[in-house]
Amino acid sequence: MCSVVGIYGNENASKLAFYSLFSMQHRGQEAAGISSSFKGHIKTVKNRGLVTQIFKEEDFKILKGDMAIGHTRYSTAGDDSILDAQPIFARYGLGEISIVHNGNLVNAKEIRKELIKKGAIFQSNMDTENLIHLIAKDYQKNTLKERITDAVKKVKGAFSLVILSRHKMFALRDPFGFRPLSIGKIRSGGYIVASETCAFELVDAEFIRDIKPGEMIIFEDNEIKSEMVFKPSPKQCIFEYIYFARPDSDVFGKNVYLARKQMGRELAKELPVVADMVVPVPDSGVAAALGYSEESGIPFEMGIMRNHYVGRTFIEPTQEIRNLKVKMKLSPIIEKIKGKRLVVIDDSIVRGTTSKRIVRMLRDAGAKEVHMRIAAPATIAPCYYGVDTPTKEELIASKMSVEEIRKYIEADSLAYLTIESIIKAINDKRENYCFACFDGNYPVYDFFSFSCPYNCKI
Ligand code: AMP
Repeated sequence: MCSVVGIYGNENASKLAFYSLFSMQHRGQEAAGISSSFKGHIKTVKNRGLVTQIFKEEDFKILKGDMAIGHTRYSTAGDDSILDAQPIFARYGLGEISIVHNGNLVNAKEIRKELIKKGAIFQSNMDTENLIHLIAKDYQKNTLKERITDAVKKVKGAFSLVILSRHKMFALRDPFGFRPLSIGKIRSGGYIVASETCAFELVDAEFIRDIKPGEMIIFEDNEIKSEMVFKPSPKQCIFEYIYFARPDSDVFGKNVYLARKQMGRELAKELPVVADMVVPVPDSGVAAALGYSEESGIPFEMGIMRNHYVGRTFIEPTQEIRNLKVKMKLSPIIEKIKGKRLVVIDDSIVRGTTSKRIVRMLRDAGAKEVHMRIAAPATIAPCYYGVDTPTKEELIASKMSVEEIRKYIEADSLAYLTIESIIKAINDKRENYCFACFDGNYPVYDFFSFSCPYNCKI
């Protein structure tokens, strides 16, 4: 997953982009970058690392101008190298351009192969670089808007994009709207587009609305115009609500914290358990655990503490290191949990490493019973649209039944929320969301990159 931001018409554009990226750091910690446009030239600063490590005061002297775009990276396509940091900048027939992208293109390999056959050379392994090439090669079209429109019609998959040219900015979402993208009005002047509305708070912007699936917003001559590039066919990512987005953000029209809390309530209704205490796995299970506690009347306690100085445990290369990192990250409050029957709430089980470790840790700390409740269905299929999930073989629920997983993680009981209850919790229509990681039903795929392993409808 990644985050994108665009600032238009504010003299502190690059600073505001920086603050926005800082607020969206949770969406990607590998690399970050900002491009700004000033007097007909685009300048870019990007590097590996966290937003606060990358940008120094002197960078903002380079990043002048009243338009800027930015990105935080969490690699799901491409490599972990500086070349794969965004924005991607290029000089081409119409001048200069810089792009940031959240999402994954599913036909990227196919397009790249075609472009290379025609003589294109690539600097990175990122699917996003395809878009720059498609735009640059579309020389029959004289405007960038037409070229962007042509380019996005050739790619398939998930893309929330912000594109900066020397004098304009474009923001658009793929027809499915997999990834969020919202527009706000900055009180000190100009506009912001960002993956999450938590960025609006920090830069003092007022939420205007979400960009619609298939819509392109054009920022030009101090105005915003809208155009539908695709017929919308919403399939927004349900995992944004479950895990990814920050609880204070509103995504797809709803507040994430409230959605998660309601999921916890549904979990309590659907999967009750007799226990003394509801304990969240911090931070991902906190909102759902509060909902579970309110609905069930079982007291909520922070029985597990999280060390915030440990990075992600998820994509560590070996199982041994992953195990150690879970231990470094989470520890029990023994006095609270000793002799107690616990309902432990987390948002998801992926490989099973975290849950197994947590159950063992709580038992070692003296818990009498440990009942795991997951505020999402079992993850059975990888995401090809920008969420970092391992291969199908590594997903524990793709090869084990709920009872087998329960035994593996050594819990007294284990239960997952159903898709129907999630729908109830967010109070929306099922057809507006992508549940591919839970039901294997991929809204868009490409046989060249992966063939639909389950029951795809297309
Ligand atoms: P695992 O240990 O592999 O079962 O991973 C489960 C834990 O990872 C849960 O606590 C989730 O909150 C967290 N998680 C789930 N999906 C992701 C993701 N895409 N990136 C990072 N962490 C995740």
